[in-house]
Amino acid sequence: CFITLEGLDGAGKSTHVQWIVDQLQSRGLPVVSTREPGGTMLGEQLRQCVLTQPMNLKTETLLMFAGRCEHIETVIKPALNAGRWVVCDRFTDATYAYQGGGRQLGEKSINCLEQWVHADLQPDRTWLFDIPLAVARERLGRTRELDRFEQEGDAFFERTRYAYHERARQHPQRMRIIDSTESIAAVRRTLVAQLDDLVLA
Ligand code: C5P
Repeated sequence: CFITLEGLDGAGKSTHVQWIVDQLQSRGLPVVSTREPGGTMLGEQLRQCVLTQPMNLKTETLLMFAGRCEHIETVIKPALNAGRWVVCDRFTDATYAYQGGGRQLGEKSINCLEQWVHADLQPDRTWLFDIPLAVARERLGRTRELDRFEQEGDAFFERTRYAYHERARQHPQRMRIIDSTESIAAVRRTLVAQLDDLVLA
């Protein structure tokens, strides 16, 4: 089972990812926890590049998919084929949201790359941690130094959030929106119910 987590920076994704992994492990399931950009040695190097260096938007999008291709072929598919659960912090929906929406690349070229790189592989469940921009910004400001994307203006993040909502609208079976303004305990209650459904499916 392939699970991905998505959402704006500051939406609380990373707070929940380890907890989800723990929940699955406590049910005796073998789990691989990974992330994008990143997930492989090459992917982590690309992540470093993309997060720190200004670059052309097409270059940025291609690097996201280059890292993703390596990640899919060497980590995600082998794990799924071996019967493991894979929990991935961000995946292709993030490219639709950030590069497609935030940076206004649109979805056509991302769709071509997706078809080429992993048409046959889609997440079974995607949780979109949703939060108004002002709340996300407040949370982010408190916790750490901001990367190149996190320093973008409000309009960028409003477009990104809108693009995430569009993805959820287009993929209602796979994607579930989680209201991240709720308390951590309330979010966990929602997640645990949905996890049970996935485990039993
Ligand atoms: O979620 P995480 O903090 O690991 O994401 C790292 C950064 O990469 C974030 O600032 C996110 O906005 C950015 N990103 C991006 N495009 C993607 C995936 C992540 O701009 N496709």
